[in-house]
Amino acid sequence: MKICVLPGDGIGPEIVAEAVRVLGALDLGVEMEEALLGGCAVDATGNPYPEATQKLAQAADAVLLGAVGGPKWDKNVREQRPESGLLGIRKQLGLFANLRPAILYPELANASTLKPEVVAGLDILIVRELTGDIYFGQPRGIEMRNGERFGLNTMHYTESEIRRILRVAFEAARKRNRKLCSVDKMNVLECTQLWRDVAIETGREYPDVELSHMLVDNAAMQLVKNPKQFDVVVTGNMFGDILSDEASMLTGSIGMLPSASLDANNKGLYEPSHGSAPDIAGKGVANPLATILSVAMMLRYTFANEAAAGRIEAAVKKVLAQGFRTGDIFEPGMKKVGTREMGDAVLAAL
Ligand code: NAD
Repeated sequence: MKICVLPGDGIGPEIVAEAVRVLGALDLGVEMEEALLGGCAVDATGNPYPEATQKLAQAADAVLLGAVGGPKWDKNVREQRPESGLLGIRKQLGLFANLRPAILYPELANASTLKPEVVAGLDILIVRELTGDIYFGQPRGIEMRNGERFGLNTMHYTESEIRRILRVAFEAARKRNRKLCSVDKMNVLECTQLWRDVAIETGREYPDVELSHMLVDNAAMQLVKNPKQFDVVVTGNMFGDILSDEASMLTGSIGMLPSASLDANNKGLYEPSHGSAPDIAGKGVANPLATILSVAMMLRYTFANEAAAGRIEAAVKKVLAQGFRTGDIFEPGMKKVGTREMGDAVLAAL
């Protein structure tokens, strides 16, 4: 098990350090090697995704990333911006499947802006296609037609692109409650009629998973009305962009949410859903739990070690039940801790 560790910028090094301690404590014989990505890489080499990092990331089975970016690099030219490094690594590793769980631990139900009874115990997984759809389709652009400006984008998917993301979602559903909801807009868009047809065909390979379909407008509504009806949701790039942000905000606690981006062989890049939080960087107060939970996803999806993934998740639940809280999820009456102490608490719970 070779893991390329990319702490990145801002709070990245602080939260990744805790995740690495947790991974080490499991004693799984993993090899970890660190490299530079993002602003720190620009400072050291002039390139946000330097060659040494590319070599390490390509040779590794999985990548653990903190976060990249910060005001220091905001005015750089595009090729020297931290985000270019992130797009570069995603593209080079062929990561087409983005998995974002939205989990609300009962202890944190008050962090959500929704009523606790609607969201307490929420546990859904949004699977978003990352490399196709209207975001990449040609032709595109803004041109003059009939004396006025005309904007154009093209939505397209091949059936093989749809099938491969559907398979990732079905496999993920098999590891959970075996319910998959495929989201499309087949009443208006032919491209998503194909999506639905291929979803139904692919579903025949997974008779043990209950497949349902929902139009995207209804899905947006159902996510806030009754989010607990969902187990796994799969959708295209654009709908997934919007629905995964909506789903993560149901929980109200960005410092808690992990994510995975996978290639065709389950090699993956694992990172918290949040950014580099420059406003609290270097203060030792960031919540490391999203990054620690990203390690659990890595063990589940890349290394197929459900037992170890479950141990980490159980440890996180335990520290929340014990009342440990970083500033972002703090409520009166709880024990306020910093990044390192939160890591210590998870290690003790493990
Ligand atoms: P952000 O997620 O970094 O921060 C938003 C707010 O949430 C801030 O108040 C921050 O303090 C807080 N927060 C985030 N993570 C936290 C944690 N673990 N514990 C406690 N509080 C936490 O988003 P932003 O401020 O919009 O972006 C800051 C930088 O991060 C920008 O440069 C942006 O480009 C970058 N960014 C990177 C990624 C990535 O690396 N994948 C993703 C999003 C944003």
